[in-house]
Amino acid sequence: MFVLGIESTAHTFGIGIVDAEGMTLADAKSVYSPDEGGIHPREAAEHHQESCLLVLQKALSQASISLPQLCAVAFSQGPGLPPALRVGAVMARGLAYSLKIPLIGVNHCLAHVEHARYFSKAERPLIVYLSGGNTQLTTLEENRYRIFGETLDIALGNMLDMFGRAAKLKHPGGPKIEKLARHADGTYLSLPYTVKGMDLAFSGLLTAAKRLLKEGADLKSVCYSLQETAFSMVAEVVERALAHTQRTELLVTGGVAANNRLREMLQIVAQNQSACFASVPPKHAGDNGAMIAYTGLLLQRGKIETLLSASRVQPKWRLDQVEIVWD
Ligand code: AMP
Ligand code: MG
Repeated sequence: MFVLGIESTAHTFGIGIVDAEGMTLADAKSVYSPDEGGIHPREAAEHHQESCLLVLQKALSQASISLPQLCAVAFSQGPGLPPALRVGAVMARGLAYSLKIPLIGVNHCLAHVEHARYFSKAERPLIVYLSGGNTQLTTLEENRYRIFGETLDIALGNMLDMFGRAAKLKHPGGPKIEKLARHADGTYLSLPYTVKGMDLAFSGLLTAAKRLLKEGADLKSVCYSLQETAFSMVAEVVERALAHTQRTELLVTGGVAANNRLREMLQIVAQNQSACFASVPPKHAGDNGAMIAYTGLLLQRGKIETLLSASRVQPKWRLDQVEIVWD
């Protein structure tokens, strides 16, 4: 019994396959990378359409299984870019219908969170979810993930990518900024730090960092200062949330969790609050189909499936709207 999961919310078209225990047997993907500018929704959808069959073949061959061995098809139903989401949804509906197996719509944010929990084995962690489209602080309370803080404007990863574009770094900017910052001489250039209660705002920081570049500041120092400022903002709200929720585990997930400096800072925060620290493995940090397949398995165990008539994509679907039927 295997569950197949399809990811297509933004830049990545991914297909993962997990077994009945949730172990990843396949994690195939093709990533759309624009030559210039950010992610264009229609171009991302075209990329997904062109690559979906090849990615499916790759996933089946990685897992060494054939389609009739699947017991469910899960797909990212939202949140995400509507044209990109639709490509995954159409493929999932077609597979589920022709194989006569359940279709399971998965919330993409929930998948990042649950897959990280699976790897960390954390029981009741405070979770920091940092990606290209989302920045949230959450814990599972009764049957919902409650959001304690989030971005008021753009997501942390999006901010890094937008700065990367201004600095003529190829998309995605996050990993390139990390590398440049690592080689900086440690000169901190003053940048705006915006924390409002438990929420964060990154657009003022982005504008100021771009201005520094225009004024001729050293790129490595700007990257270093940008990371230090943005990650300190995250660290501040995480520390406060740990202190008030009294959680003893901190877990970081999402594409930005691949950043070593961020993990180092969050580890110190966890230590100060006597909490254990865990991160999603970097290779599973960004968008991928395996996390959708895994979350599909959890939903299937909870006897939740999505009728064809309810399978429209949900571009604005929030994590805290999902009812959680497991611990
Ligand atoms: P996701 O949306 O979860 O696939 O994550 C993609 C985001 O993660 C993009 O904004 C990337 O720039 C960001 N990202 C990936 N690797 C790193 C890294 N090493 N440091 C900072 N950001 C990263
Ligand atoms: Mg994501």
